[in-house]
Amino acid sequence: MTHGRGDPDFIIIGAGINAPGAALTLSKVGLQVLVLERNDQPGGAIRTQELTLPGFRHDIGAMNLGALARSPFYEEHREALESKGVSIVFADHSAGTVLPNGRFLGVTTDPKKNLEAIAAFSGADRR
Ligand SMILES: Cc1cc2nc3c(=O)[nH]c(=O)nc-3n(C[C@H](O)[C@H](O)[C@H](O)COP(=O)(O)OP(=O)(O)OC[C@H]3O[C@@H](n4cnc5c(N)ncnc54)[C@H](O)[C@@H]3O)c2cc1C
Repeated sequence: MTHGRGDPDFIIIGAGINAPGAALTLSKVGLQVLVLERNDQPGGAIRTQELTLPGFRHDIGAMNLGALARSPFYEEHREALESKGVSIVFADHSAGTVLPNGRFLGVTTDPKKNLEAIAAFSGADRR
């Protein structure tokens, strides 16, 4: 590969969440980066789509981005990310499972409530 002016120093295959992080880090030290994605949308396993009814948007892969929200990377780039429309929503009721018999077990940010919910299924598991 020739390396004339305008040629990238790095080519990243795939535009999941890790690609822009790597591209940003490399470009901050002056390197040229080209990101290539095979899908018509970036995001990889972190994408939101209207899959069921109009207006209902579903996370098709990751939905708990607590590790990103509290990462040094997010802290360093918070301003730039938020100026581009990134926002992270913290949910009190973050995840749950509906069982075939109509029962439901969800987790919240309150450990006491989680123990109560688990106890409704199993005292042993609660202990
Ligand atoms: C169902 C599910 C739920 C998850 N839940 C969570 C969660 O709640 N919290 C959490 O922290 N993590 C979760 N994860 C893991 C998290 O989504 C991944 O760790 C993260 O998205 C990986 O990002 P990535 O950029 O490395 O790769 P990916 O997101 O896999 O992106 C890779 C990209 O590369 C593209 N690509 C691949 N091959 C080529 C090619 N040859 N040419 C061009 N493009 C190509 C793909 O189309 C894709 O866009 C979940 C994952 C899944 C699948």
